[in-house]
Amino acid sequence: MANSWRRERWDSLRLLTPNWQSRLPGLRYEGPDPDGYMTAGEVAEFIEHFAKVSGAPVRTGVNVTSVRQADGGYHVTTSDGEIFSRTVVVASGACNQPSVPALRDAVPASVEQLTTFGYRHPGQLPDGGVLVVGASATGVQLAAELRQSGRPVTLSVGEHVRLPRTYRGRDVLWWMDASGVWDQRYDEVEDLTRARRLPSPQLVGTPERTTLDLNALAAAGVELVGRWAAVRDGRALFSGGLRNVFSLADLKMERLLGTFDEWATAEGHDGEVGPPERFAATRVPESARLQLDLASGEIAAIVWATGFRPDYQWLDVPVVDAKGQLNHEGGVVASPGLYALGLPVLRRRRSTFISGIEDDAREVIGHLARYLGIS
Ligand SMILES: Cc1cc2nc3c(=O)[nH]c(=O)nc-3n(C[C@H](O)[C@H](O)[C@H](O)COP(=O)(O)OP(=O)(O)OC[C@H]3O[C@@H](n4cnc5c(N)ncnc54)[C@H](O)[C@@H]3O)c2cc1C
Repeated sequence: MANSWRRERWDSLRLLTPNWQSRLPGLRYEGPDPDGYMTAGEVAEFIEHFAKVSGAPVRTGVNVTSVRQADGGYHVTTSDGEIFSRTVVVASGACNQPSVPALRDAVPASVEQLTTFGYRHPGQLPDGGVLVVGASATGVQLAAELRQSGRPVTLSVGEHVRLPRTYRGRDVLWWMDASGVWDQRYDEVEDLTRARRLPSPQLVGTPERTTLDLNALAAAGVELVGRWAAVRDGRALFSGGLRNVFSLADLKMERLLGTFDEWATAEGHDGEVGPPERFAATRVPESARLQLDLASGEIAAIVWATGFRPDYQWLDVPVVDAKGQLNHEGGVVASPGLYALGLPVLRRRRSTFISGIEDDAREVIGHLARYLGIS
């Protein structure tokens, strides 16, 4: 239980969602720090506590090795025996494995490579410079931590989602929640495929509620380079379009903040929050390097923070597409009696966050109950 929060996270990780947003059906955070951010250990405890209060018959340490369709339902093979069930809910998560581009194979052997599943703390890396690849939540957090430990850090930046930690005096995720942006439904989203692939926002949960955008990282001495495009003769080649990438992220952030402002005015909340704020544009480095010699010794280690992917190798039902994603319509999988929960924008924008499960589960389980004829 809470396996990924115990085994697959780095030591300093905290949730980027505030404590009050960690809610599961029938369980709310009731501790002393509703605006704080849980450590990985606290998340594991929260989930364990939920297992107790929900009274669900949880079996821990059991691995599902196969699910196949038979006899009007599913035969499930586990490390602890066989189960037959008319329905199965796939809640195995979207982040079972790190997603690393094939570029990794062209990196000289002298450079140590880690993914976020293997990374725990800066002391684990060999002395020297670190190239962090990916500037979403994980990448910016690890770049900041590695830089703080005194190492030279280069951050390779592709498409990203910029957000301030607080806006008009409130946590930015309060705005996402209160304004209804997070509740936008999957069938209202303009480009669902894109929305489901959107990188995580550049946010970190710290007691000081600091904003961790690229300006903050550059000010801390992190060198920004473009998207890693290729390796040639032991050299990493980066795209040159940083200006465009930065202005797109700035523009999207401005638009989102504008949506918050409109909502606050329309709903009469302007008096309860601070005045509208606008943030400095992301500064483009004067001459971003376009290549880096990986064999020179400058870079001792690469940390791949290039996202995660699900693992459905155990699912022996033809419902996984060529890209390894589960085919489903709002959590209803195209195989009778098979359902999914906990995937990006499954039924609403908040689906992949802890607070997203409650409404999604109610709707998906409603469908399941109708399928079984018990509602
Ligand atoms: C790095 C990171 C940071 C995150 N930060 C936040 C945050 O700040 N706030 C927030 O609300 N959410 C956050 N999330 C998302 C959140 O942790 C959950 O992933 C999400 O809520 C979905 O929950 P889940 O239980 O569906 O999936 P998961 O949490 O991924 O759990 C799936 C479980 O299924 C198990 N499993 C997989 N395959 C099998 C199998 N074949 N047999 C048996 N068990 C299997 C896994 O081991 C895992 O324990 C973060 C996720 C990651 C990866």
